[in-house]
Amino acid sequence: MIRVLFAAGPQNWAEYEAPLRAAFAEAGLDADLSPDHAPGQADYIVYAPKAGLEDFRPFTRCKAVLSLWAGVETIVGNQTLIQPLARMVDPGLTEGMVEWVAGHTLRHHLNIDHCLAHQSGAWVRHIPPLARDRHVGVLGLGALGTACARTLAMLNFRVTGWARGRKDIPGIECQSGRDGLDAVLRRSEILVLLLPLTPVTRNLIDERALSLLPRGAVILNPGRGALIDDDALLAALDSGHVGHATLDVFRTEPLPPEHPFWGHPRVTVTPHIAAETRPDSAARVIAENIRRGEAGLPFLHLVDRGAGY
Ligand code: NDP
Repeated sequence: MIRVLFAAGPQNWAEYEAPLRAAFAEAGLDADLSPDHAPGQADYIVYAPKAGLEDFRPFTRCKAVLSLWAGVETIVGNQTLIQPLARMVDPGLTEGMVEWVAGHTLRHHLNIDHCLAHQSGAWVRHIPPLARDRHVGVLGLGALGTACARTLAMLNFRVTGWARGRKDIPGIECQSGRDGLDAVLRRSEILVLLLPLTPVTRNLIDERALSLLPRGAVILNPGRGALIDDDALLAALDSGHVGHATLDVFRTEPLPPEHPFWGHPRVTVTPHIAAETRPDSAARVIAENIRRGEAGLPFLHLVDRGAGY
């Protein structure tokens, strides 16, 4: 019997219990899933941040901690965690992110806001360029960035991506390194941030980075709030150098009511809804990792603690 401790909080338990039980049965796992296993008995931990578990030292039998979240910045530096940590790569979550990024890219590409603002009877024709003439930059070419970049390339956008390592993705010009970043920024009329938050990526989009963007560029940030220097972004928006920012993630969430992003004419706030882990597909990912652990196979989606993601 494999004991799986569900340590992702009562609200998630209500959503995940049935899908996890179904996924374990489908994977042929003889698993006892509970939010109440004693620490010394748990073989695996299903984890989410802010659910109360911060000290992993008593979990002496635990073979892996399996996160329901893709972003692991709040746990990756936890010194008590010595077990392998797997992050969530969920097909359902990826689909959601692709839809959010494609939708907001098309909003700005087609200038849909302009149409909405001019419904007074004046026949003013603004012809948008074709996607083939629009440069989109995607910072981060992991599970989410690659899926988004591929979809944008399928829509014919001229997509340039940036990652830590070298990438070869058909239809996408891939860059790495500081010079590569500058090259992506210089041409990105629409810039999508899908980087994890690490000591290296924190404040990556600062005054200098923003100054490299073409005038009027649009920023979409479904990555993490602290990738951007808020003050530098506000200054760039106020001057018109950045035309619009559509922001899903923030340094403080919920975004405080007094924050200048709210109500800013060039900012769209979405409340961290770009992509949610979907219980049915995510439960299968968790089950597959437990199956692999029991079979002595390497875990999927392991976090590199040194790199921070
Ligand atoms: P991955 O770990 O799969 O991909 C991260 C990408 O970022 C990789 O391409 C990696 O490069 C690149 N990267 C990391 N550090 C650097 C660096 N220093 N310089 C250049 N590139 C770097 O993550 P996902 O795609 O699954 O998720 C990305 C982020 O999206 C998450 O960390 C999370 O913050 C956010 N997210 C937001 C959600 C929302 O609802 N708003 C939902 C889910 C996730 P390489 O490939 O070379 O390793």
